[in-house]
Amino acid sequence: MIGLSSSFLGSGSSDSYTFIFWHHFFISFLDTKSTGMRNYLIGALLFLVAACKKETNSVILSGPVGINDHRGVGASAAELLADQTYTSLTVEIQFGPGMQLQEQSVVNLRTFLEQRLNKPAGITVQSKQVASIGKATASLSDITDFTDKNRTVYTDGNKITVYVYVTDASFDKGNVVGIAYRNTSVCLFGKTIQANSGGINQASRVKVESGVLLHEIGHILGLVNNGTGMVTSHEDADNRAHCTSTNCLMYYTIETTGLMNMLNNNIPQLDANCINDLRANGGK
Ligand SMILES: [Zn+2]
Ligand SMILES: [Zn+2]
Repeated sequence: MIGLSSSFLGSGSSDSYTFIFWHHFFISFLDTKSTGMRNYLIGALLFLVAACKKETNSVILSGPVGINDHRGVGASAAELLADQTYTSLTVEIQFGPGMQLQEQSVVNLRTFLEQRLNKPAGITVQSKQVASIGKATASLSDITDFTDKNRTVYTDGNKITVYVYVTDASFDKGNVVGIAYRNTSVCLFGKTIQANSGGINQASRVKVESGVLLHEIGHILGLVNNGTGMVTSHEDADNRAHCTSTNCLMYYTIETTGLMNMLNNNIPQLDANCINDLRANGGK
């Protein structure tokens, strides 16, 4: 397994299952010194989440330790986009103290999902405050630990779920504003977003929140070439899993230079190539 493709490999006989999770995640890095945004791919972290042998062929599918929501970024792209396996979507937003998303950002999220996902049984978005993560800076493992302790909605039956955690910590690797981790989880670093939006000579908070959130959602939808194949080649060779179009939501700098552009407060949109890819993988 090479490159950025995230996948879940399962193999097993009637009495033995071995699961290997290739866990990749993407980080949007806000470089306040240069006011430019760089996007870092923090390697290809391999998480051997579970290697288990069981006497029966049953495995836990749903819940905090279930496999449904513990796969790599992009692994559920088709499941999110199409209606074949899952006909409805529930998005659980949890935010730390003071980190509630702007109402319009939640509206923008819902609109984006309804425009692109085939979920005939509906899309539900719920939002709730949770306790502070309890530290000023958090590592990826802090975020995943918090997720496992606090996330309450899990993929099961005909319902797929997405978890959005707006944390009150900064990321421990620079001024990161958002990451996609696992197949149905994204995290926004709300404190960092608030410090870099909404002020004088800063882009609006809705623009930055929405742009970062939708960009990370784009990653769990498999963009670019990371779980959702390309109809026409448009992956940025130097910034894998991102789009070559400078105007696209999935352009690698869009979280900083794009979102900090004071000429307008428009939220970047997916370009035609990215939309075509989503459609070819079951989306709208
Ligand atoms: Zn990205
Ligand atoms: Zn694009």
